[in-house]
Order: sequence, then structure tokens, then C-alpha cells
Amino acid sequence: MERVFNFSAGPSMMPESVLKKAAEEMLNYDGSGMSVMEMSHRSPVYEKIISDAERLLRQVMEIPDHYKVLFLQGGASTQFAAVPLNLMKSGKADYVLSGQFSTKAYQEAKKYGDARVAASSKEDNFSHVPKTVREDFRADADYVHICLNNTIYGTKFSALPDTGDVPLVADLSSCILSEPVDVSRFGLIYAGAQKNMAPAGLTVVIVREDLIGIARENTPTMLDYKVMADNNSMYNTPPCYCIYVAKLVYEWILSLGGLTAMKARNEKKAALLYGYLDRQDYYLAPVSKDSRSMMNVTFVTGDAELDKKFCAEAAKEGLVNLKGHRSVGGMRASIYNAMPYEGVEKLVEFMDKFAKENPKA
Ligand SMILES: *Cc1c(COP(=O)(O)O)cnc(C)c1O
Repeated sequence: MERVFNFSAGPSMMPESVLKKAAEEMLNYDGSGMSVMEMSHRSPVYEKIISDAERLLRQVMEIPDHYKVLFLQGGASTQFAAVPLNLMKSGKADYVLSGQFSTKAYQEAKKYGDARVAASSKEDNFSHVPKTVREDFRADADYVHICLNNTIYGTKFSALPDTGDVPLVADLSSCILSEPVDVSRFGLIYAGAQKNMAPAGLTVVIVREDLIGIARENTPTMLDYKVMADNNSMYNTPPCYCIYVAKLVYEWILSLGGLTAMKARNEKKAALLYGYLDRQDYYLAPVSKDSRSMMNVTFVTGDAELDKKFCAEAAKEGLVNLKGHRSVGGMRASIYNAMPYEGVEKLVEFMDKFAKENPKA
């Protein structure tokens, strides 16, 4: 069967060469006589997989030595609680609300302390990210939380907020590995793997060492960064197979030239799609230009019935999962690292054809 161009926001497309490599190694990994999913996580062969995964991620993202890399479970949503439990030393944290996930993170943090909304773009339907100045944040907050790329609305911070000396904590679930980031600007980065890294089930946390070991006493053991860091992410059974696939993805990124090359590829794809959106008036792109996401591109026809027809007809052409998030409607094309340029080309061709064949009343 032919493979489709899958524009799903997550779980999403994986690089085809990674899937092939995983298939090749499925029954017998590196002469071990077994699949990675059958292995003891304490075996030397698996220990090499997880340590290679960490080494490669450090290389890809240029993670400084004073940051720990943790391979965890529970999805990004579990980090909504883990972050306040581990980092709220004085009990205060400031949140920037730029969409649904950052709002959920804020609501979770409120259970554990004085979480405050420092800025929000809710009044504008999250069609842009809030602009902030340093004075918007409390100087004695334990951290400031942002969601760097807003998967549902298709927005992204084009620059990081200035938080002074307050550590910046960021949800990078839908933009990690899409372009270089300066890890040293963050106190902590977390990301669910299923958007741009690996199958669902793995969550990566990158945390500055001085923020480890200050968790409140009643923090569940499984959510305590110190426990996980001291045990090299193997306090219990880690998501072994996901970590192995993540390692293959890091190798794939390096083979293509690392995150600088990834950024160039992603910019080219996004420019093709936004360029088309900007030079026609059949589709509307609701996001402010200065907040556009390179990963999730949202657009509408302005007519819910036409939107529905668009998604159905696109699927027949092998362009699947273009329906917008249930809370916003319209269309969303998620064009993560693994989406080939050719997929976006086909999408733009289809959009143009659909517009001509379906004039608006
Ligand atoms: C998908 C997503 C989440 C939720 O991730 P889970 O792993 O399902 O908990 C959180 N934040 C962002 C930005 C996302 O894209």
C-alpha cells in the first residue's frame, strides 16, 4: 500500500528511513537475537541504546553539560504537574497563556501554589502570542512558564520573553528539533515525543542542574527529577522502545546536517504554504504574521461545510488529517521534520484546485 502524506498534529509522521531501519532491526537487534522491545532495560545492549540516545540528543541540541536529560513517561501533560512540584520552591510561578496547553499547565500549577497569569492572548482567540516585558513577571517567582509553539492555534514565540533572572520553563512538544534553540536560555525544557521525535510514550525533560533537588517533600517519586536524574532515567522501566526510535531519529537529523539543516528544510516548507496563503483570498490564515508557527499551519475557508468537504477530498488524494483541532475548526497542516517538501507541494496544488472547483456563494 502506498503511504500517505499525514498532516496529523500528533502522533505524526516519522521519517521513512527511520521506520525502515526499525523494521530491519525488529526481530534481531544488532545480533542480540531479540527485538529491542523484548530486552531487559538493565542489559548492556539496552544500556548502550539509552546512553547513545542521550549522547546524540546532547549533540543535536548542543545541550550544555550542566543540564540533565531525562527520558520520562506520562506525556507533556504530566509535566504540567511535575514542573510546579519540582520547581516551586517559594510557591510562586508566572504563566503566559498562549493557547490550550499553556492554560492547562497553569490550571495544574494552581493546585500547588501561587500560579499567576502574567500575560494572555485569550481575548484574541489565541491568534497571536502575548507580548511581554520583564516587568510583567514577578522578580521573586520561581519560574516563568511558556508554551513555545502552540500546536492547536498554529502560533509560535518569535523571540523568548525577557524574564530577567527568573528561570524560563518551556513546553517545546511541537517544535523541539525543528530548529536550533539556545538551551542555556532555559531553566527547563520539556516535550512529549510524539510530535517531532518518536512514538507516543516518551517525554523528554532537559533541566538545569541547580533546579534539581528542590522538589517539595510530597512529590511522587516518579515525578521527582532528582530521582530520575540519579538513576539515569531508569528508576523503573523506561519507555524502552520509544527511546530506541528517538535515537534513530537523532541519527537521522545528524545525517541530514543537524538542526541548522532541519530549520532550512522547515522554513522552505512553511514558506511554500504561507506564501500561497498570502497571495490568494479563498483561504484565510487567522494567525498574526509575527506569531506564525513553522510546524502547525492553520487556515479556514470561512464556511464550515466547505472546510469539511476540503478535508474529505484531500484525504482521497492521500493528504490526510488536515482537520483543525476540535476546539477551533477549519484546517491545520502539521508539517513537522518528517513531512517531505513534496507533501506540502501536493497540499498547495490541492488547495488551489479545490478553490477553483468550489467557488463561494
Ligand atoms: C501535544 C501537546 C501537549 C500534550 O502532550 P501529551 O504528551 O499528550 O500530554 C502539550 N503541549 C503541547 C505544546 C503539545 O503540542
